[in-house]
Amino acid sequence: MSVLGELLRKIVDHPKEYAEVYQLAVRGMVENQELLEKMGRLRDERDALQEKVKELEKRRQLDEQLIEEEGILFRRKPGGGIEEFPYCQPCWVNDNRLEQLMVPRSETSVYLCRQCKKAVDRHDLHDAREAVMERLQEADAS
Ligand SMILES: [Zn+2]
Repeated sequence: MSVLGELLRKIVDHPKEYAEVYQLAVRGMVENQELLEKMGRLRDERDALQEKVKELEKRRQLDEQLIEEEGILFRRKPGGGIEEFPYCQPCWVNDNRLEQLMVPRSETSVYLCRQCKKAVDRHDLHDAREAVMERLQEADAS
């Protein structure tokens, strides 16, 4: 007797057992499908978390380069000292954006954040820069 013939005979001889095996097989396929879907969701979650870790690492590295003084951020230069233009602290703290404070064409005494419109007086900026430079020199000396 062929394998198929033998199988058919067993099914006919044992209909109850066959029905149980069939139900188990169907349940197994359903569970398998559910596991595959769960795996897909977990993979998406993992990818999102890896992306988040990368973002946080980038932010941490930037945070190490930034020095705050009087609500103004200065960024260290790799070779020492600080960059010429300051950055907006509220934009960094609240929105994770590193926005340079610029001098608008119409103004000469104010540095402005184009994003949140925070304004810093030129003299306050000068004082803050001096304070940061002092802090850096003290840190270098110790
Ligand atoms: Zn801003």
